Amino acid sequence: MSEYDPSNLFAKILNDEIPCHKIFDDDNVLVFMDIMPQTRGHCLVLPRAPSRNLLDADPAALATVIPYVQRVAVAAKKALNADGVRIMQFNESAAGQTVFHLHFHVMPIFEGVPVKPHSGAQADPAELAVLAKMIAAAMH
Ligand code: 5GP
Repeated sequence: MSEYDPSNLFAKILNDEIPCHKIFDDDNVLVFMDIMPQTRGHCLVLPRAPSRNLLDADPAALATVIPYVQRVAVAAKKALNADGVRIMQFNESAAGQTVFHLHFHVMPIFEGVPVKPHSGAQADPAELAVLAKMIAAAMH
């Protein structure tokens, strides 16, 4: 497995070098909208601690991030009145990972609405901004 690359896309987002539709951030995590959402409200939870993925992550960093994943999942489900929530997390290209900074996908699921393909079409930025605000409001 390769080393962590500090110039990866999500490292740039964490460093405010590339913009995102932010939902939440603190010293431990950054939460923002996936730009190519597979469902309405699809967002990403990133620990600030650097690792490529789950395989090389510090167990303490994992222990810190999972309660945030739960909090975002609960907030997204409530904010968007979803029927369920899918959590996804890919490790290495063979498993579907495309950006090599650990992240958890939080995907609200709506009964009868198909899940779109991974890394498919970009969403309308205005809609992502509205969704980010809705999920952020439900986190308090
Ligand atoms: P992975 O395939 O590594 O599990 O997930 C990477 C995710 O990042 C994909 O779902 C993809 O849609 C999303 N993504 C790729 N580029 C960008 C970007 O520039 N901004 C945001 N917000 N998401 C991105």
